[in-house]
Amino acid sequence: MQNLEELLEELLLELKIDLPKERRDRVIKDIQAWLYPSLQAKGRVLTEDGTFTLVSDEYGEPYHSVYAGALTECLEKFIKPSRVLDWAKNLQELRVLDVGFGLGYNLSVLIVQLREKYPNLRIKAISLEKRLQKDIPLLPGKYGEIQKLLLENLPSFEADCISWRLLLGDARESIKDLSGFGFHLVLHDPFSPYKNPELWSYHFLQKIKESMHEEGTWISYSASLPVRKALKELGFYLEGTNPVGRKKGGTLARLKGKDLLPDDELRKLDTSPYAVPFLDPDLKDSPLRILVRYRLHVEVRCL
Ligand code: SAM
Repeated sequence: MQNLEELLEELLLELKIDLPKERRDRVIKDIQAWLYPSLQAKGRVLTEDGTFTLVSDEYGEPYHSVYAGALTECLEKFIKPSRVLDWAKNLQELRVLDVGFGLGYNLSVLIVQLREKYPNLRIKAISLEKRLQKDIPLLPGKYGEIQKLLLENLPSFEADCISWRLLLGDARESIKDLSGFGFHLVLHDPFSPYKNPELWSYHFLQKIKESMHEEGTWISYSASLPVRKALKELGFYLEGTNPVGRKKGGTLARLKGKDLLPDDELRKLDTSPYAVPFLDPDLKDSPLRILVRYRLHVEVRCL
């Protein structure tokens, strides 16, 4: 990885920004804090609801919220607030984009919940994942049965009204082939924005938008300002989702409808210096470059 100080110098020149030393130091300190592991644990960990998750060495983050519980997070931060179990009644086929397949929890839970309510609904799912883990823990009961089926049939599975494909590699590349796919639901679940910024940039979210159905729903656990700002600039209408296991809730975004965020949260998107999207115009910048560029944009807005 390129050294943070060197990258900062390079971007200061590129963006033609002049900053005194104490402000450069502040930028570096912030970025170091963002990159600091959020959990000091390794391997498999037990979460609050009794289900297991893994901790990523690369990102220093668990795959699921330890405080909310892994299974609870899938249900309460993704499936329920997306309201897919209501609106899927109008569909013969539901197309789902699963960004960050990880351990396959979100997708397995979604499939089980949909199959119980709509046994004849065709489910067409595509998952994007950079690197598959070994020794993936299985969810309990019916969720684990579907998860096992997916994991045993990698990278694709077709049976019983379910068609699933895993596209292995950088999601920024895979998404380029999915334009016009018409996804009704996007489960957006990378690691957190400041650790995994390449999957939260304006330009990646723009590709996601191009892959969505005009009535589609995008949902994520994050309420982060750069992410919400990017979605807003892309023309999405935003809604907050309830907090589970932490203070902040997540975000639901749709291309039709109206903004349902509380006034103070909407106002923040206009006034906070942090409300500026992550940029990755060629969809190939390093995560660190995306972060430094973002932090410099914030610094300029504070001048
Ligand atoms: N949704 C998963 C589940 O329910 O088990 C958990 C996903 S985990 C929080 C985030 C995932 O995003 C990781 O598996 C990670 O490898 C993947 N990821 C991060 N950056 C990526 C990239 N550039 N391209 C594809 N996948 C990426």
